[in-house]
Amino acid sequence: MVEFDYIAPKTMDEVLEVIGKPERKNSLLAGGTNLIVNLRANKIKPEIVVDISRLADFSYIRKDGEKIKIGSLTNISEFTTSELLNHQAKILRESSIQFANPLIRNKATIGGNLADASPAADAAIPLIALGAKVETIDSNHKKREIPIEELFLAPNKTLLKKDEVITEIEIPSLNGNNGNLKSAYEKLGLRNAMAISIVSVAIVLKLKDGKYIDDAKVALGSIAPKPIRARNVENVLKEETLSQSLIEKSAEVVLDDINPITDVRASADYRRMMSKALIKNALNKIMLGG
Ligand SMILES: Cc1cc2nc3c(=O)[nH]c(=O)nc-3n(C[C@H](O)[C@H](O)[C@H](O)COP(=O)(O)OP(=O)(O)OC[C@H]3O[C@@H](n4cnc5c(N)ncnc54)[C@H](O)[C@@H]3O)c2cc1C
Repeated sequence: MVEFDYIAPKTMDEVLEVIGKPERKNSLLAGGTNLIVNLRANKIKPEIVVDISRLADFSYIRKDGEKIKIGSLTNISEFTTSELLNHQAKILRESSIQFANPLIRNKATIGGNLADASPAADAAIPLIALGAKVETIDSNHKKREIPIEELFLAPNKTLLKKDEVITEIEIPSLNGNNGNLKSAYEKLGLRNAMAISIVSVAIVLKLKDGKYIDDAKVALGSIAPKPIRARNVENVLKEETLSQSLIEKSAEVVLDDINPITDVRASADYRRMMSKALIKNALNKIMLGG
């Protein structure tokens, strides 16, 4: 591991001042579950590590009108216990239960999960299906909003600039009290939670009168260099009534949305087969009560 300076600012202003100086290569440290592994493996060689984990005011899950706002330093364990998420964005609770193990969940933050840009990121896939966006701030104190779907460019590459920090995640108003919102998250890993997924699927449906699909968002993880939307599946689902034959059709059509890779964890063929199976499982779960 290379030598580096370490600082732990108490305010965001201090963080922005440090990362605004391009002459010293910096890395932000939140929960450190990715960063420390990468430092140890010499994959990154920062001159200064800026520990943002002690910043006050960036760890919360709250309602803002009909929207849900989540501070970027909120750890994944909070997702598993949040009553608000359990009522209004259940899919996040569902995916967080399948995230690593309790020790990692206690440290891993949502901001770190998004900024790390793994195609398998367990929090990112459901957030894309929820239509969520991030808010960021840069060293000039300029804020911007980026839909999470657009944030990812490639494995470990995002739209974020070197002097930009994710501050908040916003989940849009889904439909009033969200009574008609149904969702499911399915993850296939080599050993379920502790393993990085081979394929993951997040489905969020807005239903009218119980079964008519007003709107559908479907996201897939680990199937491409970044998380993707399955727009062909969405188009099959939209403005139809949820039924067994629609589920079969959706599972077939997902093959038009994906062009998976073969890697050490699975072959492309296996990923294709599993994508179909997970789409089917998720939709069946929703049909049985979501
Ligand atoms: C054993 C193990 C199991 C794991 N299992 C899973 C799993 O099941 N599912 C899964 O999705 N992930 C898993 N991970 C990966 C990791 O835990 C998550 O991606 C975690 O959410 C990263 O968050 P962190 O706070 O630890 O980020 P850090 O490691 O602190 O940072 C990660 C990257 O994000 C940047 N960053 C952090 N916060 C911000 C911010 N607010 N703004 C801008 N950039 C920022 C850092 O500079 C760094 O480049 C696992 C990791 C380990 C070690």
